[in-house]
Amino acid sequence: MKYYNSIVDTIGNTPLVKLNKVTKGIRGTVLAKVEYFNPGNSVKDRIAVSMIEDAERRGILKPGGTIIEGTSGNTGMGLALAAIGKGYKCIFTMADKQSKEKMDILRAVGAEVIVCPTNVAPDDPRSYYSVAKRLNQEIPNSLYPNQYDNLANTEAHYVSTGPEIWRDTDGRITHFAASVGTGGTISGTSRFLKEQNPQLFTLGLDTYGSVFKKYKETGVFDTGEIYPYLTEGIGEDILPQNVDFDVIDQFIKVTDKDAAIMARRLSREEGLFVGWSCGTAVHGALEWAREHLTDDDVLVILLPDHGTRYLAKIYNDTWMNDHGFLENRQFKTARDIIT
Ligand code: PMP
Repeated sequence: MKYYNSIVDTIGNTPLVKLNKVTKGIRGTVLAKVEYFNPGNSVKDRIAVSMIEDAERRGILKPGGTIIEGTSGNTGMGLALAAIGKGYKCIFTMADKQSKEKMDILRAVGAEVIVCPTNVAPDDPRSYYSVAKRLNQEIPNSLYPNQYDNLANTEAHYVSTGPEIWRDTDGRITHFAASVGTGGTISGTSRFLKEQNPQLFTLGLDTYGSVFKKYKETGVFDTGEIYPYLTEGIGEDILPQNVDFDVIDQFIKVTDKDAAIMARRLSREEGLFVGWSCGTAVHGALEWAREHLTDDDVLVILLPDHGTRYLAKIYNDTWMNDHGFLENRQFKTARDIIT
């Protein structure tokens, strides 16, 4: 019989899928590492197990314990799945700007979700960050993984995402691209790949409103770079310990609109129903590839999550129109014909 002992054993070994349409005019081979094949539909499943098992080894999480994390959704989903088999309780604090679907998914897998106001400073006692910290202090045998500064995050990608890409490309990968939030994905994967091939080039995709690109180029933490943006899961107004700037060669910034349009193109033209930051990664990476990629190059772009989480946003035409993101329609729909 071939079966997995639990759902967490299905995490990882996600496929590489060639991009065929959106890559028109680009030389070389462009492959997507499609992370929505993970059971929680995102790349963050990988770090959940890594952070929990690290805490168990260090004795800071014991049987019957509670996991408390501030999350925009994906890390919470991974933690919830890993917690089920191990018998831990989960409490997640979320800012009220996050989509209701994300909160409902977490509740569906047994987590308690506490919704906190978005528009308060991080050190305000009502912020999702402060509430998580307070619960961690007040609940005995509880763990606050803190995915931003917990290096078990980067480590998960060093031992899984990197080796999988190296194996599946037969060591022929020449370029790696990923969007950056906590930095764990790009740093762990790139560190592994550069150890195999020091010539490998790594491109980080950042968003307007975030500090990473400017910091890489100047070494200055410029608060003038910080302003509101919409794309979820990427860009920061802090420098998380998981961003290792030494293994990221260059950053490119992508707008909310360009990312949304590319995510929709990936769904319609490649059949890859992916999340918003996947659009960021592909738009930015292809912009770079158009100028630099040569025939023998192999570029792998990591796609972090699934489109279901964004149905009410980038996959909703009214929402897209309200935000000025909808391109002119080029075709007649069936409704245009019958009305
Ligand atoms: N995209 C999405 C949708 C995410 O949830 C995350 C995780 N914050 C990322 C990209 C970036 O991954 P990382 O935190 O590993 O940099």
